[in-house]
Amino acid sequence: MKRARKRVLVTGGAGFLGSHLCERLLAEGEEVICLDNFFTGSRDNIRHLLPHPHFEVIRHDVTQPIQVEVDEIYNLACPASPVHYQHNPVQTVRTSVHGAINLLDLAKRLGARIFQASTSEVYGDPAVHPQRESYRGNVNPIGIRACYDEGKRCAETLFFDYHRQDGVEIRVARIFNTYGPRMHPQDGRVVSNFIVQALRGEPITLYGDGRQTRSFCYVDDLVDAIIRLMRAPDGVTGPVNIGNPSEFTIRELAEEVARQTGSRAGFVLRPLPQDDPMQRCPDITLARSLLGWQPEVPLQEGLRRTIAYFSDLLELRQPVHLA
Ligand code: NAD
Ligand code: UDP
Repeated sequence: MKRARKRVLVTGGAGFLGSHLCERLLAEGEEVICLDNFFTGSRDNIRHLLPHPHFEVIRHDVTQPIQVEVDEIYNLACPASPVHYQHNPVQTVRTSVHGAINLLDLAKRLGARIFQASTSEVYGDPAVHPQRESYRGNVNPIGIRACYDEGKRCAETLFFDYHRQDGVEIRVARIFNTYGPRMHPQDGRVVSNFIVQALRGEPITLYGDGRQTRSFCYVDDLVDAIIRLMRAPDGVTGPVNIGNPSEFTIRELAEEVARQTGSRAGFVLRPLPQDDPMQRCPDITLARSLLGWQPEVPLQEGLRRTIAYFSDLLELRQPVHLA
C-alpha cells in the first residue's frame, strides 16, 4: 500500500547534522524515524521534535541489523569528531562498515533509496588542491585517523558494490567541515572549541601554527544539499562534494571568533595532532551542476548564529569542559 507521506529513516538523527535533517524533513511533511545509539547524539538535540505526530525515535546501534518499513534511508550514524571517533577506534570502523552493510541490506530488501554521509576525510591529507571527486586521496591506513577515514572509504565501496551487484539506489555525499548550532561543545572540533573558549574568556588553542586550512559550511546549507542530492533524478549516485569552497586558515577563524565575541584572552599554540591535514577545500563544480546548489551562508554570518547558540547553552549549563 502506498503511504500518503514518505517515511524516512535517519540514522544518527540525534546528532548535530542528523537533528537538523530530521527537522527539515518534518517541516517538508515527511514522516521521520530517528535511529540513534546516543553515543555522541543527545535527546536535547531532538527534544523539540518529540511532540511532532510524524516523528519517532528508536534507540538502536547500526552495527546490529534493523527491520523497519521505510521508503528512504539517510545514513549519518558515526561519530564525526577526532576526539570521539578515536575514543573507540574499533567501534568506529564497525559503525561505518557493519552499519553500511546492515542499512544497505535493509535498502535492498525494501527497494529504498539510501544516502551515505561520507566525508572529505576520504581524501586524507590531500596532495591535490582543491579536492575533486576524481581525486583518490592520501590516507595513512595505519594512523590514528584511519578508523574514520578508512571506515568511510570502505562504506563508499560497499555502497557502490550494492549498487552494481544488487541495483540499490545510492546517493553518496562527501561532506566537508560543517558547523552550526547543536555541535557538541566537548567534541574538540575547531569551531565549537574556539567559540566556547572565547565565550569563557580563555585563550583560543591553535594546533600547530594555525596555518592549516579548512573550508566551513553552515549546517542549513549542508542539509539543503543532501536533500537535493536525495531528490536528484534517477541514476545519480555521487560521490558529490558538499561544502563551502571559501577557504580559511585556522588562525583566520580564531581571529574572527575573537572579534565577534570580543575575546581579549589571545591565542595559545598546541602541538598539531598526528596526520592532521594541512589544507582542505572542496571543488563543488559537480554539486553546482548536478544539484543547482551552492552555499549561501558566509562564515561571518554562520559564526554569528553559532556563537548565539553557544552563548545560550553556556548560560544554561556551566561548566563545560573541553576535550
Ligand atoms: P555527530 O557525532 O553529532 O552525530 C553522529 C550521530 O550518530 C550521533 O547522534 C551518534 O550518537 C550516532 N551514532 C554514532 N554511532 C552510532 C551507532 N553505532 N549506531 C547508531 N547511532 C550512532 O556528528 P555529525 O557532525 O552530526 O555527523 C553526522 C554524519 O556526517 C557522520 O556520519 C559524519 O561522519 C558525517 N560528516 C560530518 C561532518 C561534519 O563536519 N559535521 C563532515 C563530514 C562527514
Ligand atoms: N584545531 C585547532 N584547535 C582546536 C581544535 C582544532 O587548531 O582547538 C585544528 C585542527 O588541528 C585541524 C582544524 O582545526 O587542523 C580542524 O579540526 P577539526 O577537528 O574541527 O576537524 P578536522 O581536522 O576533522 O577537519
